[in-house]
Amino acid sequence: MSSVTGIAQHYFTDMKEISSEEIVFRREVRKLCEMNTCGNYGKNWTCPPAVEPIDAFRDRFGLFDTLLVVYRVYHVKSSFDWNGMKAGMSDFKDRLLDVKKEMEAADPHFDFIVLGAGACHLCDPCAYVDEEPCRNPEDAIVSLEACGIDVMRLMKDHGMKYYNGKNTVTYVGGILYNKSQNN
Ligand code: SF4
Repeated sequence: MSSVTGIAQHYFTDMKEISSEEIVFRREVRKLCEMNTCGNYGKNWTCPPAVEPIDAFRDRFGLFDTLLVVYRVYHVKSSFDWNGMKAGMSDFKDRLLDVKKEMEAADPHFDFIVLGAGACHLCDPCAYVDEEPCRNPEDAIVSLEACGIDVMRLMKDHGMKYYNGKNTVTYVGGILYNKSQNN
Protein backbone atom coordinates (compact mmCIF):
# COMPACT_ATOMS: atom_id res chain seq x y z
CA MET A 1 0.00 0.00 0.00
CA SER A 2 1.32 3.48 -0.88
CA SER A 3 1.98 5.67 2.13
CA VAL A 4 -1.17 7.19 3.61
CA THR A 5 0.45 10.64 3.73
CA GLY A 6 1.56 10.20 0.11
CA ILE A 7 -2.04 9.65 -1.00
CA ALA A 8 -3.51 12.31 1.30
CA GLN A 9 -1.17 15.05 0.13
CA HIS A 10 -2.88 15.02 -3.27
CA TYR A 11 -6.14 16.09 -1.61
CA PHE A 12 -5.28 18.35 1.31
CA THR A 13 -3.16 21.45 1.71
CA ASP A 14 -1.99 20.58 5.18
CA MET A 15 -1.72 17.56 7.42
CA LYS A 16 -0.02 16.32 10.55
CA GLU A 17 0.41 12.90 12.09
CA ILE A 18 -0.28 12.44 15.76
CA SER A 19 -0.29 9.35 17.93
CA SER A 20 -3.83 8.03 18.43
CA GLU A 21 -3.00 7.94 22.15
CA GLU A 22 -2.99 11.74 22.07
CA ILE A 23 -6.61 11.99 20.93
CA VAL A 24 -8.75 13.54 23.64
CA PHE A 25 -12.44 12.61 23.71
CA ARG A 26 -14.77 15.09 25.39
CA ARG A 27 -18.36 14.53 26.40
CA GLU A 28 -18.94 18.29 26.17
CA VAL A 29 -18.49 18.06 22.40
CA ARG A 30 -21.48 15.69 22.27
CA LYS A 31 -23.39 18.21 24.34
CA LEU A 32 -22.67 20.81 21.66
CA CYS A 33 -24.11 18.42 19.05
CA GLU A 34 -27.23 18.12 21.21
CA MET A 35 -27.65 21.90 21.06
CA ASN A 36 -28.12 21.38 17.33
CA THR A 37 -26.61 24.62 16.08
CA CYS A 38 -25.74 22.86 12.81
CA GLY A 39 -29.29 21.50 12.41
CA ASN A 40 -28.18 17.89 11.87
CA TYR A 41 -28.80 16.47 15.33
CA GLY A 42 -31.32 13.65 14.99
CA LYS A 43 -31.37 14.01 11.22
CA ASN A 44 -28.40 12.05 9.97
CA TRP A 45 -26.97 8.56 10.48
CA THR A 46 -23.49 10.05 10.99
CA CYS A 47 -24.57 12.39 13.79
CA PRO A 48 -25.75 11.93 17.37
CA PRO A 49 -27.90 10.35 18.61
CA ALA A 50 -27.55 7.81 15.76
CA VAL A 51 -23.80 7.28 16.18
CA GLU A 52 -22.06 5.09 18.77
CA PRO A 53 -21.36 6.35 22.29
CA ILE A 54 -18.02 8.15 22.74
CA ASP A 55 -16.56 5.19 24.65
CA ALA A 56 -17.18 2.93 21.67
CA PHE A 57 -15.29 5.36 19.43
CA ARG A 58 -12.45 5.44 21.97
CA ASP A 59 -12.24 1.64 21.90
CA ARG A 60 -12.33 1.52 18.11
CA PHE A 61 -9.71 4.25 17.73
CA GLY A 62 -7.47 2.28 20.09
CA LEU A 63 -7.05 -0.32 17.34
CA PHE A 64 -4.97 2.20 15.37
CA ASP A 65 -1.66 3.82 16.30
CA THR A 66 -1.86 6.99 14.21
CA LEU A 67 -4.27 9.78 13.34
CA LEU A 68 -3.31 11.77 10.27
CA VAL A 69 -5.11 15.10 10.76
CA VAL A 70 -5.89 16.54 7.32
CA TYR A 71 -7.21 20.00 6.60
CA ARG A 72 -7.80 22.53 3.89
CA VAL A 73 -8.32 26.28 4.00
CA TYR A 74 -11.10 27.80 1.87
CA HIS A 75 -11.53 31.47 1.00
CA VAL A 76 -14.99 32.98 1.35
CA LYS A 77 -16.34 36.45 0.52
CA SER A 78 -17.17 37.35 4.12
CA SER A 79 -18.02 35.79 7.47
CA PHE A 80 -21.65 35.70 6.23
CA ASP A 81 -20.88 33.94 2.97
CA TRP A 82 -22.87 30.79 3.82
CA ASN A 83 -22.90 29.62 0.20
CA GLY A 84 -19.11 29.89 0.03
CA MET A 85 -18.76 27.98 3.29
CA LYS A 86 -21.20 25.33 2.10
CA ALA A 87 -19.31 24.93 -1.17
CA GLY A 88 -16.03 24.57 0.72
CA MET A 89 -17.52 22.00 3.07
CA SER A 90 -18.94 20.04 0.15
CA ASP A 91 -15.56 20.07 -1.63
CA PHE A 92 -13.83 18.93 1.55
CA LYS A 93 -16.26 16.02 2.01
CA ASP A 94 -15.75 14.99 -1.62
CA ARG A 95 -12.00 14.98 -1.05
CA LEU A 96 -12.34 12.77 2.03
CA LEU A 97 -14.39 10.29 0.08
CA ASP A 98 -11.93 10.38 -2.81
CA VAL A 99 -8.99 9.72 -0.49
CA LYS A 100 -10.91 6.83 1.10
CA LYS A 101 -11.59 5.28 -2.30
CA GLU A 102 -7.99 5.73 -3.44
CA MET A 103 -6.73 4.03 -0.27
CA GLU A 104 -9.18 1.16 -0.72
CA ALA A 105 -8.09 0.74 -4.32
CA ALA A 106 -4.41 0.81 -3.33
CA ASP A 107 -4.88 -2.04 -0.84
CA PRO A 108 -8.32 -3.55 -0.17
CA HIS A 109 -6.94 -5.27 2.97
CA PHE A 110 -5.49 -2.18 4.64
CA ASP A 111 -7.53 -1.22 7.71
CA PHE A 112 -8.27 2.45 8.29
CA ILE A 113 -11.06 4.87 9.18
CA VAL A 114 -11.64 8.23 7.51
CA LEU A 115 -13.15 10.89 9.77
CA GLY A 116 -14.79 13.98 8.41
CA ALA A 117 -16.25 17.40 9.03
CA GLY A 118 -19.98 17.83 9.44
CA ALA A 119 -22.75 15.40 8.59
CA CYS A 120 -22.65 12.98 5.68
CA HIS A 121 -24.16 14.65 2.61
CA LEU A 122 -24.48 11.72 0.24
CA CYS A 123 -28.30 11.69 0.30
CA ASP A 124 -30.70 14.58 0.65
CA PRO A 125 -32.36 14.07 2.99
CA CYS A 126 -30.49 11.41 4.94
CA ALA A 127 -32.46 8.16 5.25
CA TYR A 128 -32.44 8.71 9.04
CA VAL A 129 -35.28 11.23 8.80
CA ASP A 130 -37.49 8.61 7.13
CA GLU A 131 -36.44 5.97 9.70
CA GLU A 132 -34.81 3.95 6.94
CA PRO A 133 -31.38 2.25 7.05
CA CYS A 134 -28.36 4.17 5.78
CA ARG A 135 -28.27 3.88 1.98
CA ASN A 136 -24.49 3.86 1.75
CA PRO A 137 -22.92 2.80 5.06
CA GLU A 138 -19.55 2.07 3.42
CA ASP A 139 -19.11 5.69 2.35
CA ALA A 140 -20.93 7.52 5.14
CA ILE A 141 -18.14 9.40 6.96
CA VAL A 142 -18.58 10.34 10.62
CA SER A 143 -17.14 13.67 11.70
CA LEU A 144 -14.40 14.17 14.27
CA GLU A 145 -16.89 16.16 16.35
CA ALA A 146 -19.51 13.40 16.32
CA CYS A 147 -16.83 11.11 17.82
CA GLY A 148 -16.42 13.59 20.68
CA ILE A 149 -13.24 15.31 19.47
CA ASP A 150 -12.83 19.06 19.98
CA VAL A 151 -11.33 19.98 16.62
CA MET A 152 -10.15 23.48 17.54
CA ARG A 153 -8.42 22.11 20.61
CA LEU A 154 -6.89 19.24 18.64
CA MET A 155 -5.42 21.69 16.15
CA LYS A 156 -4.13 24.05 18.83
CA ASP A 157 -2.63 21.31 20.98
CA HIS A 158 -0.65 19.97 18.02
CA GLY A 159 0.55 23.23 16.50
CA MET A 160 -1.88 23.42 13.57
CA LYS A 161 -3.60 26.65 12.56
CA TYR A 162 -7.39 26.51 12.71
CA TYR A 163 -7.81 30.24 12.11
CA ASN A 164 -6.12 31.11 8.84
CA GLY A 165 -7.03 34.74 8.37
CA LYS A 166 -9.99 36.95 7.56
CA ASN A 167 -12.55 35.48 5.17
CA THR A 168 -11.31 31.94 5.40
CA VAL A 169 -12.75 28.74 6.79
CA THR A 170 -10.71 25.68 7.66
CA TYR A 171 -12.22 22.22 7.42
CA VAL A 172 -10.59 19.36 9.25
CA GLY A 173 -10.78 15.59 8.95
CA GLY A 174 -8.58 12.65 9.76
CA ILE A 175 -7.39 9.22 8.77
CA LEU A 176 -6.88 6.63 11.48
CA TYR A 177 -4.50 3.86 10.55
CA ASN A 178 -1.59 1.78 11.76
CA LYS A 179 1.60 3.46 10.66
CA SER A 180 3.51 0.38 11.74
CA GLN A 181 1.73 -1.46 8.89
CA ASN A 182 2.21 1.29 6.30
CA ASN A 183 5.87 1.37 5.41
S1 SF4 B 1 -25.15 7.71 3.02
FE1 SF4 B 1 -27.14 8.76 2.94
S2 SF4 B 1 -28.39 7.63 4.42
FE2 SF4 B 1 -26.25 7.12 4.89
S3 SF4 B 1 -25.59 8.63 6.43
FE3 SF4 B 1 -25.06 9.46 4.42
S4 SF4 B 1 -26.79 10.80 3.90
FE4 SF4 B 1 -27.51 9.39 5.51
